[in-house]
Amino acid sequence: MTGRVIGIDAGGTKLLAGVLDERLDVQHRSLRLWRGRDLAGVLDTMVEAVDEARSVAGDIEAVGFGIPALVSPDGVARFSTHLPLEGVHFRLLMEERLELPVFVDNDANLAALAEQRAGSASGLSDVVMLTLGTGIGGGLVLGGRLYRGSRGLGAELGHMVIEMDGPPCQGNCPGRGCLEVYASGPGLGRAGAHAAAASPTSALGRALASGQVITGEVVSEIALGGDPVAQEAVASVGRRLGVGLVTIANVFNPEAIVVGGGAARTGEMLLEPARAVVAARALPPVRDGLLIVHAAFDADAGMVGAGVLALSRGDC
Ligand SMILES: [Zn+2]
Repeated sequence: MTGRVIGIDAGGTKLLAGVLDERLDVQHRSLRLWRGRDLAGVLDTMVEAVDEARSVAGDIEAVGFGIPALVSPDGVARFSTHLPLEGVHFRLLMEERLELPVFVDNDANLAALAEQRAGSASGLSDVVMLTLGTGIGGGLVLGGRLYRGSRGLGAELGHMVIEMDGPPCQGNCPGRGCLEVYASGPGLGRAGAHAAAASPTSALGRALASGQVITGEVVSEIALGGDPVAQEAVASVGRRLGVGLVTIANVFNPEAIVVGGGAARTGEMLLEPARAVVAARALPPVRDGLLIVHAAFDADAGMVGAGVLALSRGDC
């Protein structure tokens, strides 16, 4: 027994692999782009990453995968928008190819697990995680265990409606006014573009005038550079996020809500206005003592969570 496992975070564009020991120290990591976007290309890239990690680390006990899909308890990918994994019996297929025990779960669930076991919410038993990226991923750890819903499809917190007649949601979601419309990377980009048009002499406004596309990343960058207009755009998204957090707090009464992902890289600039909304609107016994914190692992969260999944042999 070496106590070493491999954790793989399979994102929409790239794959991050890490070798982790029992203390969750990352001993080796590698990042690679998908070899091809069809199923064979995706699976081959995963096998390649595991083989490489094994050649460096030696004996490996198990492999954990975080994939951008809803995963049923038997390890079948049920619904996947970013990778061609829908209907694939992922666990079985990978066990055959790798000849190792394989465990698989949704990437946002695993990010929550990483933060609850070893990150910003370490040691707490009721933790909600939101990952603000292209969409919004949600993960729930309740009573110390991942909550997956009746069919493994639970915790899509980004599709919580905060405006009944709001704009249509993204991707396959038939909803309107979901939190994801406002507080994802594209949502931050829209808030920034609106602010830039209204304040053409600001740094953000000049970026727009120079022909730059105002994405969430651009807004974050310019806000971190000190532009008050970009900072107010971030704060406005923070207040929308706060409205979503009020519902999360009232429904789950967690000890901590952890916020991560690329669209949250402004940190306190986004979280402080969100906390103010929660302080004003959540039920008092629920909001008292509630931590709203930035993620500790960020880009590593899914990979570390996949390692936790492998170390616990799926029992988490
Ligand atoms: Zn939605």
